[in-house]
Amino acid sequence: MPQYDVIVVGVGGMGSAAVYQLARRGLRVLGLEQFDIPHDQGSSHGTNRIIRLAYWEHPSYVPLLRRAYELWREIEHVSAERLLFVTGSVDAGPKDSPTVLGSLRSCELHHLHHEILDAGALHERFPGYRLPPELVGVYQPDGGFVMSERAIVAYVNAAHEAGAEVRAREPVAAWEPDGGGVRVRTSRGAYTASKLVLTAGPWAAKLVPALARLAVPERQVLIWTRPRRPERFRLQTFPVFNMEGPAGRFYGFPEYGVPGFKFGKYHHRGETTDADRVDRGIYPEDEAVLREGIRLYFPDADGPTLALKTCLFMNSPDEHFILDVHPEFPQVSIAAGFSGHGFKFASVVGEIMAEFATEGRSRWDLELFRLARFAR
Ligand SMILES: Cc1cc2nc3c(=O)[nH]c(=O)nc-3n(C[C@H](O)[C@H](O)[C@H](O)COP(=O)(O)OP(=O)(O)OC[C@H]3O[C@@H](n4cnc5c(N)ncnc54)[C@H](O)[C@@H]3O)c2cc1C
Repeated sequence: MPQYDVIVVGVGGMGSAAVYQLARRGLRVLGLEQFDIPHDQGSSHGTNRIIRLAYWEHPSYVPLLRRAYELWREIEHVSAERLLFVTGSVDAGPKDSPTVLGSLRSCELHHLHHEILDAGALHERFPGYRLPPELVGVYQPDGGFVMSERAIVAYVNAAHEAGAEVRAREPVAAWEPDGGGVRVRTSRGAYTASKLVLTAGPWAAKLVPALARLAVPERQVLIWTRPRRPERFRLQTFPVFNMEGPAGRFYGFPEYGVPGFKFGKYHHRGETTDADRVDRGIYPEDEAVLREGIRLYFPDADGPTLALKTCLFMNSPDEHFILDVHPEFPQVSIAAGFSGHGFKFASVVGEIMAEFATEGRSRWDLELFRLARFAR
């Protein structure tokens, strides 16, 4: 039976970075992926993902983000491909909303350059933004986006160069502890390793049943529209945003990579699901939810539809990540529960998973992400 130092299950956003980080440390690494590399069935497809430093969700993410930026630049260098685009970011909402207060708190605690712009000032500076007067935005110049599918390709290519083996179309059916190591059974065979890294995205609970209520898949839908005023939605004129208003929480991107203004609503229509049975059809109700947000806040983008896609979130109860070693088997580590905001961290999560596998712990303060918090 082939023997590895580390097996990584799931070669998507987090897993591709983990395979690379492990291989570059000289370990014998096997990455196992159930679909293709890359593919459009999980959480990481749809061209790109927002990255932002002004982290309203919690200021503890900011040091990890700084490292994530460094590592995105590093993989860009290794792959000779531009993956991280800086456009600036806007976090908008009512003055006293969690988004605005949280974003300001992160900026102040971590000394991030930022400006508070009211709706009028935002429109003047970035004409595509037409927020109502009761909303304000925190503008932070380091925000932007990462090319998510290309990043997976870059990491897998770099992992190969560093000696890793990656096998696609090979779902893992089961794993079990084997002495101090693990044994993994797939559709094509069986492998053993000293360590196991589980980066299975929306499928996480199928491999770790204890995650059933802690990493719950949710169906999302994204739209790309042809703006009526395209010049207002270009890389140079339109910062990425994340905003909350009476109609919900929305996010969006300037036009890049594929045609159209990309726009989504967090927790779209609140449909929790099973990753193997998610409805990938697109319905008029899906588009209606997205059009409402575009018409309210970005009416100059309200042109013809260019694309609609489904995607999966994997939510934890408090919407913070799960980054930990397995509670029973220290040779197994888990990255899950990214709750719709994980991709920007994939570069640093890869490094953290490599630290877990090689040292049993990470140098980062990961208290916010421990599994044990749900038992308290
Ligand atoms: C619509 C949408 C918009 C988002 N926007 C943002 C954003 O702007 N910024 C941001 O930072 N984040 C965003 N996110 C969240 C981010 O994309 C996810 O947190 C991230 O992609 C999760 O990566 P992952 O590696 O956990 O999952 P995936 O990339 O899905 O990887 C998991 C992999 O494991 C494989 N796998 C699972 N089970 C098995 C098995 N048994 N055997 C073999 N392989 C297996 C899967 O096939 C998959 O390839 C968004 C998510 C969605 C859906």
